[in-house]
Amino acid sequence: MHSFTPGAVSPPVSVPPRPALSVPPQPRLRLFGSPVRSLKTLWAWPLVLSLLVVVGVMFWLRSQEQASLTSQREEMISDALSLEAQINGRLDGELAQLRMLGDIIDAGRLRPEVFASHPVVLDGLRRFWVSVTWLGPDGRIQAHQPEDVAAVGDTRRQLSDDGGLTGHLSVTLHSASDHPGGLLVARFSAAALLRQKVPWWLASKYDIRLVDQSDDVIAATVESPRDETLAWYRVSLGSSLPGVWLELTSHERVAPWWRTLPVALMLGFLGLIAGASFMLRKQMRSVSRAEEAWRTEAAWRTAMEDSLAVGIRARDLDGRLVYVNKTMADMVGYQPEDLVGLLPPMPYWVPDELDQSMRRHLRNMAGQAPRGGYESRWQHRDGRIVEVMVYEAPLVDAQGVQIGWMASIVDITERKHLEERERRQMEAVAHQARLTMLGEVASTLAHELNQPLSAITSYNTGLLNALSGRPEVPEPVLKALQRQGEQAGQAARIVKRIREFLTRREPQREPCAIDEVVASGLSLLRREISRLGVEVHNDVPSGLPQVVADPVLIEQVVANLVRNACDAMAHQDAPRRIRIQAEAVHAATAGEGAPASSFVRVTVTDSGPGLHGQTVTTLCAPFFTTKSDGMGMGLAICRSIVELHYGALDCVDVPGGGAAFSFSLPLVPPASDDEDHVGDPTPQEIDA
Ligand code: ADP
Repeated sequence: MHSFTPGAVSPPVSVPPRPALSVPPQPRLRLFGSPVRSLKTLWAWPLVLSLLVVVGVMFWLRSQEQASLTSQREEMISDALSLEAQINGRLDGELAQLRMLGDIIDAGRLRPEVFASHPVVLDGLRRFWVSVTWLGPDGRIQAHQPEDVAAVGDTRRQLSDDGGLTGHLSVTLHSASDHPGGLLVARFSAAALLRQKVPWWLASKYDIRLVDQSDDVIAATVESPRDETLAWYRVSLGSSLPGVWLELTSHERVAPWWRTLPVALMLGFLGLIAGASFMLRKQMRSVSRAEEAWRTEAAWRTAMEDSLAVGIRARDLDGRLVYVNKTMADMVGYQPEDLVGLLPPMPYWVPDELDQSMRRHLRNMAGQAPRGGYESRWQHRDGRIVEVMVYEAPLVDAQGVQIGWMASIVDITERKHLEERERRQMEAVAHQARLTMLGEVASTLAHELNQPLSAITSYNTGLLNALSGRPEVPEPVLKALQRQGEQAGQAARIVKRIREFLTRREPQREPCAIDEVVASGLSLLRREISRLGVEVHNDVPSGLPQVVADPVLIEQVVANLVRNACDAMAHQDAPRRIRIQAEAVHAATAGEGAPASSFVRVTVTDSGPGLHGQTVTTLCAPFFTTKSDGMGMGLAICRSIVELHYGALDCVDVPGGGAAFSFSLPLVPPASDDEDHVGDPTPQEIDA
């Protein structure tokens, strides 16, 4: 823990060597042209990308749908062709049986009477045939089995037992010796054909129908009409059953791509992304607005900090400079980036005062910097000394935790110079005042000594005259008297010469404005007035006629009267007030025909204890004072000066408390007058 005790003998402080000034430039705030501006549309990117993904997925689904349709169709064609081959195979087999029967008839080995009992006929009817008919060349029925089933007529299709339509197979009979030829026709049930030839797995996949050219259903595996929305395929049964088509209608419906689950999911996903993007956009807008506001504020702050006349410096808890504004950097002749990051000793510390500066730094870091600020001396980069006033304060973050120290720095070099100059001026004025007073003292002494010396000379002359004729008076006595008279005369001459020398200075008269003179006189006492907290009301108007006077001497009069007023009020608790007034007075003349006298009267009134009835004569008497450290010459000198200007000094008690001192100065001084008329004793006075 470091401490600092003013006035105590401080232990030597080890000052680490100064770091080189090669501190990397700190990143500066980029206020304009920020890349964030281009990210304003960033919120839309997820939505756009999602849309692209969704479109891609939809294309894929569509192609999948096409592929499914194609594969379904191919499978259906293959199934249809396979079924058609089986049906045709079956019909070909039946046709072969029928042809065998026809061959038997053609060979004459079967007569119509035994037709019904022939094994081929019986097998055919048991197996597949609905009926079999033997027609003669004239179309008349030779034989027909079974008899209860309708024979072949004109219509090519008739109903079977199960209600379905029937087809027929026929072979031509050739005429022979024992029969004239004809036609053998076997009817079969199309429904039975389908029932027998369509395997279960095919029936579970498809609705299978046999349709004719006019699109009428001959037989079907299902009762329901065809669903036009389902995929179907037809294949002709060709020569086996001319004009009959085998039609397969798939049970499986390939859903359009836009009605699939992925599409629903994608649309839901898109909706969510759109909602999220909207919220993101809202959020980004508010962030962007906040950022815009922050940028404006930062720009304002930087501009304000740079335009401040006060330097600002922030340090972390280790004493490292973390921020300096332009004013502070300019004060010591560096760039802000040269200083930021530096640790003590700072480059602007005065080299001869490094120990002192380090002690002050340690004291500040310990939180013991004077609350009212402290004065310090820094060195500008060009070598000149900069006087500064530093006010330290803790630097806290948003959580209220102290993270360093913030200081405001005021350059008081100019003020210090002014104060020094003013102090020297005051000293010179005081010295001058003392000299003036000394001259007045000497003048007064000379005046006071003049009378006794003249008296001594006169008495000595009288004594010599009285004793010179008397023989009893020894010669040495007469000589001594004579020498005494000579010495007294010599002393009187010396005193007279001194007085002549002291009163020889002519006032440097010139026309001057009394308000300016009063203001100058007041300015001499500015410090005293503010130290005592005196309220001064200068009510001297500026338009008063000018007086012909020595402004320097009149300033002294004003200053002396104001100083006396301040002294009189120095120990009172009551309000300390001084009012200075001035007026032009045109007084009536004393005698008939005499010119009117015009003068300016200046009055200094205070709120002090007053004069207790003392007259101006008493107060202006040389060496009259009531102050322990007073000389009692101030008012005497004032009166001399005022009278030197043909004016008069006066004072009165103010009703209600306080004193009023006034002096008057004629506007036009008398053309010729004996300036030495004041206080010079006449021979009569001496004689008296
Ligand atoms: P000094 O100031 O050295 O005492 P001055 O001749 O200026 O000599 O004043 C003589 C005295 O006149 C002072 O000691 C004081 O008693 C009295 N005096 C002067 N001005 C005032 C005033 N404004 N109010 C009361 N007393 C005053």
